[in-house]
Amino acid sequence: MKTAGSASAVLAAGGGFFTADGTCQNSNQTMAGDSLQESVMGSGKFGPNPKYRVLWTWDYGVFWDDSFYWQGKGSTGENQRRAHFLKDYMRMVDFCSAHGINGIIIWGALRAHDNGVEQFRELVKYGKQKGVKILPGVGVFSYGGVFFDPRQNIHWVNAEQFSASNPYWLPSWLSQHPELQAIGPDGKPYHMGMYSALACPSKKENLEWFKRSFAWLFEEFQIEGAQVEIGDYGICHCDDCKKKRTGGEGSVLMIEDMAEPYLAACEVAKKANPDAWVICETYSSFASPQKAEEPGQFSTAMSDTQKQRLADALPETAILQWVMDRAVPFNPMHDWTENVYLPSKNNIVRIHHGSQWAVNGKDEWAVYSIGEMVKRSRACGANGVSIFGEESPASPPNEANYLVFSEFSGFGGKNPNCDYKTFFANTLDPLYGGSDMSLEWRRIYVTAHFIRLGFKVDDAMFHQTYHEIGRPDLMDEILKMSTAEKRSELRKFAQEAHDLSSKLSGESCRRWAWLENWLWRAEFLFQNPH
Ligand SMILES: [Zn+2]
Repeated sequence: MKTAGSASAVLAAGGGFFTADGTCQNSNQTMAGDSLQESVMGSGKFGPNPKYRVLWTWDYGVFWDDSFYWQGKGSTGENQRRAHFLKDYMRMVDFCSAHGINGIIIWGALRAHDNGVEQFRELVKYGKQKGVKILPGVGVFSYGGVFFDPRQNIHWVNAEQFSASNPYWLPSWLSQHPELQAIGPDGKPYHMGMYSALACPSKKENLEWFKRSFAWLFEEFQIEGAQVEIGDYGICHCDDCKKKRTGGEGSVLMIEDMAEPYLAACEVAKKANPDAWVICETYSSFASPQKAEEPGQFSTAMSDTQKQRLADALPETAILQWVMDRAVPFNPMHDWTENVYLPSKNNIVRIHHGSQWAVNGKDEWAVYSIGEMVKRSRACGANGVSIFGEESPASPPNEANYLVFSEFSGFGGKNPNCDYKTFFANTLDPLYGGSDMSLEWRRIYVTAHFIRLGFKVDDAMFHQTYHEIGRPDLMDEILKMSTAEKRSELRKFAQEAHDLSSKLSGESCRRWAWLENWLWRAEFLFQNPH
């Protein structure tokens, strides 16, 4: 028999859920508890709607039309899903167009196989018709350069043995000019595989090659912009590169490498299209770290001095893109204040919540973090926001993520103060079958996610959504549960979902039926735990 204090009893009691003004029912804790949230919410001070409202994707991870079930092999692998590229992305464009999202970034945009180039060309045209800019992701010294995969047929060609020439493909360029490769810590050129070739940022020839490639991209496809990255999986250790940098042997990227290529990208794009968006990835946060951080790592903070240097080197039209995962609830390691120093006029704020890079998975419920990202961006004067777009809104948690992103950006439901209560009551509840039904759905889904996860993660990127449902001790409680207790909880939740879905019909029934199926899939894992 369970006592009132046992984990199972606590879970069965349901726990608190957050009231949308930022407090937790059954708890004195605020949801995020930082000063910016209070000042934003207290003063109602928001800047205008963000100018840049962007979904970020890798082509292999997009799954909007699952009539085609093949999947790709990761960001440095092949994409067997490419045959379905246009069908996936046209659906995404339609959704964006209807929800005020005006750009889609695509990594792996250019692949030759499966008629990939023509598919991309068609998508650019379709995006223009619908008011959604198609923005290819481009590596300067990494990620294949401008043309990601020139193989005509991936089913017949081994990637590592492929040696065909393509003037806009980085491995091809470096195979012709091996002296321009980046040098590893051992003093020899890196050997990381075809998709991960690295060029030395200090060699002028590499920059000139990039400019030629980037100009071709704009001319050939009449694109309305692009996202540019230097690379974040290795730095060059040649003497020239060592001289101009700070950072240590373990660095994976260097802010000192950004100014020259990003300036070049802006200049080339402007010649082709004066209104082009050139989104320059900083891999950094603009907020203040609470503890000292190792330089040269992904998502760490950029100092004000570094910000100033980068901004001084770039034209006003440059759009800097920031990684703010460490500055949003529920794991703030960076302090994000309203008067933070933004070095440039145009800034896109981006987080990885609800994506394939989230510990909770790409179907993560991330409404509060995404909502806070948009609110804080508007409060501090950042004029752009971005989240991941790989998962279809047929998945209810991703649909909710997209809707809060859109609504708090000034589109969708009327909500000028970016108020969560309004969002849940007016936008989500009708989709879930009635008053407070979306909160109930969230409570079950989030709790069940952590039961399924079953272990504690201290990773800085971990998204502790149990705070959103007012259950700060949830993981501790779950860790005390036996497998049988976890299984029993999931079965109870499935029954709850079934009882509710059986009273509903149409689309609201579908969202509960989706949850019921998800719960049974989770329960299956506990039938024979390994
Ligand atoms: Zn170098």
